[in-house]
Amino acid sequence: MTSNVFTFIDYGDIKAKVDLDHCDGCAFCLDVCPFDAISLVNISPLVRHIAIDRNRCQGCGLCQGTCPKEGVHVEGFSMKEMSSMIGDLLRQ
Ligand code: SF4
Ligand code: SF4
Repeated sequence: MTSNVFTFIDYGDIKAKVDLDHCDGCAFCLDVCPFDAISLVNISPLVRHIAIDRNRCQGCGLCQGTCPKEGVHVEGFSMKEMSSMIGDLLRQ
């Protein structure tokens, strides 16, 4: 039986954090979140960024692995670890 790693691994208090200096609101990461924890916030017509719903975020790291601008980070994981984990999942 196959299992969904995002469903069964308990990441505890590990949550994604937005880096407002790097996130430009491009929205690449919006659809990758399996927990629907990412939303887009419009600050003005020209300025926007994402927000993380900490109640929904499970710390899986897919958003960090997707962002090309280092606009979101997950505590405790380096970019290299995230890329490796995502690569492993894609090979399953
Ligand atoms: S976190 Fe990265 S991918 Fe997501 S909206 Fe911001 S810049 Fe784009
Ligand atoms: S770490 Fe995972 S659950 Fe949390 S916002 Fe990013 S993609 Fe969604």
